[in-house]
Amino acid sequence: NRKIILASRPKGAPDDTTLRLETEAVPLPGKGEMLLRTVWLSLDPYMRGRMNDAKSYATPVEIGGVMTAQVVAEVIESDVAGFSKGDYVLAPSGWQDWFVSDGTQVLNLGPEPQNPSWALGILGMPGYTAYAGLLKIGEPKPGETVVVAAASGPVGATVGQIAKIKGCHVVGIAGGAEKCTHVVETLGFDACIDHRAEDFADQLAAACPDGIDVYFENVGGKVLYAVLPLLNPFARMPVCGMVAWYNLPGLPDGPDHGPQILSTILRMKVKMQGFIIFDSFPAELYQEFARDMTGWLAEGKVRYKEQVVEGLEAAPQALYDLLEGRNFGKVLVRVG
Ligand code: NDP
Repeated sequence: NRKIILASRPKGAPDDTTLRLETEAVPLPGKGEMLLRTVWLSLDPYMRGRMNDAKSYATPVEIGGVMTAQVVAEVIESDVAGFSKGDYVLAPSGWQDWFVSDGTQVLNLGPEPQNPSWALGILGMPGYTAYAGLLKIGEPKPGETVVVAAASGPVGATVGQIAKIKGCHVVGIAGGAEKCTHVVETLGFDACIDHRAEDFADQLAAACPDGIDVYFENVGGKVLYAVLPLLNPFARMPVCGMVAWYNLPGLPDGPDHGPQILSTILRMKVKMQGFIIFDSFPAELYQEFARDMTGWLAEGKVRYKEQVVEGLEAAPQALYDLLEGRNFGKVLVRVG
């Protein structure tokens, strides 16, 4: 069994000393257990947070512990009711080839799911994050302007496409011309602004002539500062992530933006709400999401892009790249 463990806690960006590949015997399932072989490993920005020993909504990975992850795996042998050899499952196996499970927190996808990897993306956690955060906190109305960054990634791309379905003017923000072209031409956003452009804030203002009604916060940093002056009265701001800051060892350099942020919230009567997808919404909402998203995908109203990385050993660098924007679409590692 090859597994990737946390070797040291990074201060700032992770590097070669952060994660390490180790090998051990393949684990044997006991009575009431099943053996899972990882096929697809999901890489997600939250994994950077698990490397820190800080108070958060989830416990950190221990030094020497296997990195946390959801995977799509194949059942190789099973003594768990409801799971048979050959079934595909969504499981919390972590970054490793094999995993022994008693079925806790494992979802059966059946023997021949159509797109098994989608359970880690558009039909799974990132897709549901976009759906719930936008519709329940953002509450977009037809004709309103919705802005989202990391717009070519699984969360941002889905937020923008749902906002289009709801009749909004949608402006994406992404890093570089290739991503921006994809966001407009393939995903159907009204505009996409490159956050690396010198005049980024001016371009964003020009793309939002009626101001911003919903800012779906994925990144923080200078994107947030460019959005603040454009927010309309009673704007909504679902706070989903701040990937621009995940690799910072402490507070960012430069002026204290706290007063600007709070005074904008006060003067513009902005509703800002953070959420963690696992426990912020009623369980029934997931069924609505699954039904709506399956329909939109079938009708071609939502498009979904994956980036496949080959082999478990390539996973650490792929995660570091993801945190710096050197990914294009939902990042998956083909392990099996
Ligand atoms: P992505 O695949 O979109 O990857 C992150 C992207 O962030 C990068 O590709 C890059 O895109 C962008 N980015 C990185 N640094 C910067 C920066 N300094 N300024 C602007 N953009 C930057 O990730 P996901 O779609 O999986 O996740 C998006 C966000 O949603 C993350 O913040 C994540 O933590 C959060 N999230 C929160 C959940 C919750 O429950 N609250 C659940 C799931 C995700 P580009 O090159 O276009 O800039």
